[in-house]
Amino acid sequence: MKVDLHCHSSMSDGALAPAAVVERAAARGVGLLALTDHDRLDGLAEARAAARRHGLSLIDGVEVSTTWRGVSVHVVGLAVDPANAALAQSLERLRAGRIERGRRIAQALEKAGIPDAFEGAAKYAARPESLSRTHFARYLVETGAASDVRDVFRRYLAAGKPGHVAHRWAALDEAVRWIRGAGGVAVLAHPGRYPFGADALRALIEEFRDHGGAGIEVACASHSAGQVREFAELARHYGLAASCGSDFHAPGEGAELGEVPALDVPVRALWRDDAIARAGA
Ligand code: AMP
Ligand code: MN
Ligand code: MN
Ligand code: MN
Repeated sequence: MKVDLHCHSSMSDGALAPAAVVERAAARGVGLLALTDHDRLDGLAEARAAARRHGLSLIDGVEVSTTWRGVSVHVVGLAVDPANAALAQSLERLRAGRIERGRRIAQALEKAGIPDAFEGAAKYAARPESLSRTHFARYLVETGAASDVRDVFRRYLAAGKPGHVAHRWAALDEAVRWIRGAGGVAVLAHPGRYPFGADALRALIEEFRDHGGAGIEVACASHSAGQVREFAELARHYGLAASCGSDFHAPGEGAELGEVPALDVPVRALWRDDAIARAGA
């Protein structure tokens, strides 16, 4: 049975509706799936109904945007209560910042010679407050400014590029607190993707653990085999469990559902933890 504890629907920056994500995961042999939309919980009800129809175990998840040492760091919450009011309200406040940031991204892109990007990106977002850099990327591919989403990030949207703007998301400890307050476990997402050196990365993991973080994504689709081993070792060192996920967004855009590297290293697998197993039952 395949396990995938990180993916997105059109409620955030994925391309498929929550039910279609679940259906696709089931068709690809995923037996345990967590839907983890950026900063929102409202795809989970539709996903749960679809999971029942397709005989798949669903974990209620979310991916919370935080800023740590000036860099965007993502924290996945697993087995959260989607009805938890405090979590929902905190995420709502966090999302509100996406509209204003989107205006600033559009201004920056205009200076780089790309007009009307706010309206263009907004067409791809289910709701204005879901507006993500991925939506800008899809619009820039549409206009021919770049060849694919990765290319847009490389040329326009990554830190230091003309369409990048600074933004303050939640603090790391806040994200962990919101997730735990909603009964969930906090997982540090795709640690191999952050632009930190070895010391800062260890400091991040240690702080995350000290705030109450429970796991770290080890078997991520974006990790090389070497990174899987490296983060398994760090997980063990800091007493964290290992999670896995594809970070699926859209067919043909990055990894597919259930496509995660094998975790063939001795480390505690988060999906075997009781709380997660119960939540998926
Ligand atoms: P945002 O939350 O609006 O800052 O957007 C972050 C999202 O952009 C991530 O969740 C990814 O889906 C996407 N993203 C970030 N960096 C890249 C990249 N280099 N290539 C493709 N997608 C990326
Ligand atoms: Mn995303
Ligand atoms: Mn992420
Ligand atoms: Mn993600």
